[in-house]
Amino acid sequence: MTRWRYAAATDTGLVRDLNEDAIFVDDMMAVVADGMGGHAAGEVASAMAVELLDFDFHLRPTVEGLQRAIEEANRQILSDARETPEHFGMGTTVIAVGLTEDGDGVISPTLFNVGDSRAYQLRDGALRQLSEDHSVAEEWVRMGRLTPEEALVHPRRHQLTRTLGVEESVDVDVVSVVASPGDRLLLCSDGLSNELSAETIAQLASAPAPLDEAVSALVDAARSAGGHDNISAILVEFDEVTNTATPIKRTVSTARPPAAALSGTRSYRRSRPASRFTWRVVAALVVLAAVVAGGIAVVRWYAYSTYFLGEDAGVVAVFQGQPQGVLWYKAHKITDTAYSVSQLRPLDQRALAHTISEPTLTAALNYATYLHNAWRLSQPATPTTTVVTSTSGVTTTTTKKVG
Ligand code: MG
Repeated sequence: MTRWRYAAATDTGLVRDLNEDAIFVDDMMAVVADGMGGHAAGEVASAMAVELLDFDFHLRPTVEGLQRAIEEANRQILSDARETPEHFGMGTTVIAVGLTEDGDGVISPTLFNVGDSRAYQLRDGALRQLSEDHSVAEEWVRMGRLTPEEALVHPRRHQLTRTLGVEESVDVDVVSVVASPGDRLLLCSDGLSNELSAETIAQLASAPAPLDEAVSALVDAARSAGGHDNISAILVEFDEVTNTATPIKRTVSTARPPAAALSGTRSYRRSRPASRFTWRVVAALVVLAAVVAGGIAVVRWYAYSTYFLGEDAGVVAVFQGQPQGVLWYKAHKITDTAYSVSQLRPLDQRALAHTISEPTLTAALNYATYLHNAWRLSQPATPTTTVVTSTSGVTTTTTKKVG
């Protein structure tokens, strides 16, 4: 049996007009989603993710159930973004801990992650990050191109490589959480983890105070540190916990397995031996063909292994390929974004003219949205006021535009 107590808060922060984070927590599941996109679309994406996970997981509280819920959320957000022009480019992170039941009826905590919202485990005042950030800088740390210290200040540390609702399929990290009674878990959006040091998070989240006070202290500290982004935190504390006998640590793709590519078998045996070709010649030709095909495949892979942002008819567009092309493989346009080039800051327009390379389609779309939002934020601001509401133990502080 696994039981936890919980408290949660979400706050617009001091800079943003809207709260695009969405949260949910009950006695079976905790979810933080950090939405992104132009206009109010990020709010739509994060709310959809949280509602779908809540609904689906309670129908099927297993690891597979939550995986499918995330897959369904990805599909529905993507489909909404394609059908509704003002939702173009929206997406959301999602980090969730579900109390999942395995085949033996054992209920244990399992973590699911897409994006850069974070999960931490707290034990005896010590903090351990359970999730990996899916950002360009963190991917480069894992590839050895950056040190962890360089990643902390790298300009692309906030640029996501995985987001729900941007591509047909998304990779989800799934990890069993091994916990003891008294352990706490903190789920939070980057509006909290970017503002506070690991030491401050550890100290506030493990304070021997009621959970709702600890959560409020975390959110207040992030506001005091600048509140540059929306701030969300969920804190759970285990009263009882059973750990699964078969811990999981894997990354699953929500893509459907491809239909059997090789259905049936082909026979290369000839009914009549050819008079001019011995088996040695045939073998040599097969090897040569394989080498040529392999070489072409490598060149093609290199040519299309990257994406870039560029301009097409005054609109910011995403292209796949190398900007200069490789041999006969030319870059081709994947999609227009919803942003015209004139809706970027002048320095970004100049960068776009030279094309901006991105490792994945998701990263390219997210970066286009980031550049557009940077332009919006550079426009004259309006004054704000703060409204605080409280429902069923979840405190929501919303900062809104006046007038
Ligand atoms: Mg955020």
